[in-house]
Amino acid sequence: MRKKIVAANWKMNKTLQEGKTLVNAIISGNSNVDVTKIIFPPSLFVTEFASSIKENAGFFVGAQNCYHTESGAFTGEISASAIASCGATHIIIGHSERRQYFHETAEQLKQKVNLALKHKLVAVYCVGEKLNERQTNHYFTAVKNQLQEVIFHLSESEIKNIVIAYEPVWAIGTGLTASPEQAQEMHAFIRLAAAEKYGISIANQISILYGGSCNAKNAKELFACADVDGGLIGGASLVAEEFLQITNSF
Ligand code: PEP
Repeated sequence: MRKKIVAANWKMNKTLQEGKTLVNAIISGNSNVDVTKIIFPPSLFVTEFASSIKENAGFFVGAQNCYHTESGAFTGEISASAIASCGATHIIIGHSERRQYFHETAEQLKQKVNLALKHKLVAVYCVGEKLNERQTNHYFTAVKNQLQEVIFHLSESEIKNIVIAYEPVWAIGTGLTASPEQAQEMHAFIRLAAAEKYGISIANQISILYGGSCNAKNAKELFACADVDGGLIGGASLVAEEFLQITNSF
């Protein structure tokens, strides 16, 4: 059976103290042990949270990004190996904000995925079309390209360490959510693309998360879709009660 996952992408929010308060509230309010919960705080907090969170069943900590080379003179950047050595188990790669604001290319993202897997991190790889690609009916092509360029070179055993997050760019942080029909259509398309490449049995093991203004009000109908295995949550993950309600929406 595929894992049900709810992941919290805090982005560049929270101080250490605020983050600790939020994490404690999430852990103490957690009632759904069947759902994997991954917290992606600012990287500076990974070490601190890895030790406290990992004692709790079903909780994991990850980083929001890494650099695309192994090590070296890249002031200010963080390597996949450093992230793994701090106790992180997961990493977000290819978030649309990284693609848009930091101009990350498909080639760099591919290198990041390779490094993440080399250092035994599960990569949460984000795909999603821009508004104009949705409006001009190019959304399937856009997402298929993102899969082919960055993760479809992986072997059958490697692809099992990838979680895919479908995050339509027009829905991230905008309050606009994909309808359950739009989400299911794209998730089924992604699973079919994975099945064509790796076979149906492997494709059925890949968790595909929805992200983009997912919140406590709309999570239930999104998670009810056959190919939606949970969510990557931005804004709504910054409030414990809201995040917990989302984890209880399966
Ligand atoms: C995200 O950044 O991955 C995200 C889904 O953000 P939001 O939930 O705020 O749209």
